[in-house]
Amino acid sequence: MAENSKIEWTDHTFNPWTGCTKVSPACDHCYAEEGSKRAGAKVGKWGPGMPRVRTTPANWAKPIKWDAQAKAEGRRFRVFCASLADVFDNEVDPAWRRNLFKLIAETPNLDWLLLTKRVGNALRMVKEIADLPRPGSHAGDLLAHQWRSGNPPKNVWLGITVCDQKEADRDIPKLLAVPAAKRFLSMEPALGAVDLTKIQWPEKHKVDVLRGGAWDLPGWVHKGFVNHSDMNTIDWVIVGGESGHGARPMHPDWARSLRDQCAEAGVPFLFKQWGEWVPRGPEAWGYPLVEGVPRIRLTDTGENGSDLGAGGDNHVWMQRAGKKAAGRMLDGRTWEGVPS
Ligand code: SF4
Repeated sequence: MAENSKIEWTDHTFNPWTGCTKVSPACDHCYAEEGSKRAGAKVGKWGPGMPRVRTTPANWAKPIKWDAQAKAEGRRFRVFCASLADVFDNEVDPAWRRNLFKLIAETPNLDWLLLTKRVGNALRMVKEIADLPRPGSHAGDLLAHQWRSGNPPKNVWLGITVCDQKEADRDIPKLLAVPAAKRFLSMEPALGAVDLTKIQWPEKHKVDVLRGGAWDLPGWVHKGFVNHSDMNTIDWVIVGGESGHGARPMHPDWARSLRDQCAEAGVPFLFKQWGEWVPRGPEAWGYPLVEGVPRIRLTDTGENGSDLGAGGDNHVWMQRAGKKAAGRMLDGRTWEGVPS
């Protein structure tokens, strides 16, 4: 639903509908699905063929109020869409998406953060709306027409969830292929190390998606890094560990490496949270040793946080402190980078 969001990287959260299907290891402990099991028919369900439910007209009216408030205050609000659904879900009636695009077009003082795990659908679904009957008669159609023509809405930031290197290699090239005012990564839950400076490209070479450039281009005599200042790049990286039932721990080196990659490239980095698990012992950076709570020994290759016994490399002991106690300090401070 709509609310003043408690999520650190947004001002508001808006769900145009609810319900979804799990498509990634990042979805394993989807809190929205858990909530839907306890709710009645007013809330969408999870899985292919299961009903998605549109939220109320009162809910849909809230972004109009936020937009007016933002205009009056001379500032912009970020709106995360969606936390209980996916904008580019195949199961959703395209007419709902068309209405969402209309709402986006009518709220120019809001920056809409469309976060998806289905970025491969994005351009197709934009075209689908542009091709609906009576193009141009509806603000959502006009937005889709312009977006399809390579002129994306200025108030849409397109983001994808990436939990490990495999997803990064698979989905970041797709994200960069979609026209967007800004592109961001939500790396939560972080389940493994990710090198954004060497994303595997479909043409077999590797690409630095933060600085913009390619490594070892096929057919080139010159080997090494070639800068491409005109290529699309990632504008923002958000990193966080998992919270809730069954949460998997995040090795501190995964977050630290992404922070350093972003710093090197001048890309804003936001550390959202540790999640349930926080480092303990000498690596704990001030986190006290809590006796009597579960602990595991996690290596930097993590196996999604399994108890790895005595083996593994670069291990760190993690303790289950709970999301609130674990907080959001990395190496003794918060990291709050946001694109301007
Ligand atoms: S995409 Fe998001 S809402 Fe959908 S199942 Fe995955 S975590 Fe849940």
